[in-house]
Amino acid sequence: MQDSQQEQPEAQAWICLECGYIYDPAQGDLETNIPPGVCFDKLPGDWCCPVCNGAMSQFIKFESQL
Ligand SMILES: [Zn+2]
Repeated sequence: MQDSQQEQPEAQAWICLECGYIYDPAQGDLETNIPPGVCFDKLPGDWCCPVCNGAMSQFIKFESQL
């Protein structure tokens, strides 16, 4: 039983291609009233980048382990 090394898709961060803003589910987003723990898929459909107001469709998964 391992409980210290779980790969959780909910922890996937997403980056805005337009301005480089990174949405981290562990942090949520205070600017847009998203509490910590909300994965990108669970964001409101009208959520947009708090920095450049870009649509969710311009975000891509942020791969931090390349
Ligand atoms: Zn942006």
